[in-house]
Amino acid sequence: MTEHSNKRVAFVTGANKGIGLETVRQLAKQGITVLLGARDEQRGKDAVAKLQGEGLDVQFLHLDVNDATTHDAARMFIEDNFGRLDILVNNAGIALDVAQKPSEVDMQTLRKTFDTNFFGAISVTQALLPLNRKSDAGRIVNVSSGLGSLTQHSDPTWKFYEVKPLAYNASKTALNAFTVMLAHELKDTAIKVNSADPGFTATDLNAHRGYKTVEQGASIIVRLATLPSDGATGGYFDDEGVVPW
Ligand code: NAP
Repeated sequence: MTEHSNKRVAFVTGANKGIGLETVRQLAKQGITVLLGARDEQRGKDAVAKLQGEGLDVQFLHLDVNDATTHDAARMFIEDNFGRLDILVNNAGIALDVAQKPSEVDMQTLRKTFDTNFFGAISVTQALLPLNRKSDAGRIVNVSSGLGSLTQHSDPTWKFYEVKPLAYNASKTALNAFTVMLAHELKDTAIKVNSADPGFTATDLNAHRGYKTVEQGASIIVRLATLPSDGATGGYFDDEGVVPW
């Protein structure tokens, strides 16, 4: 049998830039081996080279959340090289309908958004869950958004009350449902499943209009990815605490 390292191993999807890249950096700084997922090989390898240049233990793993063949290949790679997966961060995401009204958003935009932000995250998780079960401290973090909270959307005093793109917001609400249902299924295992809201963070996703830095945005993801054994599961958190569903 192959001997595998005792170091924790994490995988972050959509990590060639933005919050995902910074999540990889912060996890690797904690001494975790991190697999940096990217759908584009060149962009992924460039990002890996940058982090390796900072002395971090980071490797490239090709994965397109919309291409299940890459999920199977990723499972085989991780199985062969590490034997298990301790941390999965479903970070890859798109926002296509920022300027569209709910009454006008086209079906293609809705479907494309759900394909990446919801179905993609589920497909990746299902493919890698057997490896997460082999960890004695499995952690799954679904990178959601405060915009997925129906409670906040119903509160006229909420600071993002006017921000109502249906495709993006509903895809994150659905992702939160996956968190709750999967956490329930896994409640008697060592795996914890949580949703993270990074907050409005300056990245390409919002043309850098966000007021948080990627360091700040990634921090709640990293905290949930490294929860102790008595940490929460089935929850929804930002860096100030619990976010209402
Ligand atoms: P970003 O800079 O645009 O990064 C998005 C990442 O997802 C990129 O690496 C992109 O890869 C990747 N991606 C997109 N589609 C993919 C696919 N099919 N397969 C694999 N990777 C794919 O955005 P970000 O702000 O860092 O967003 C990261 C996550 O945080 C998203 O889930 C987003 O919804 C969430 N979030 C962001 C904010 C915010 O204010 N920025 C707030 C709340 C939640 P390419 O470079 O190849 O396109």
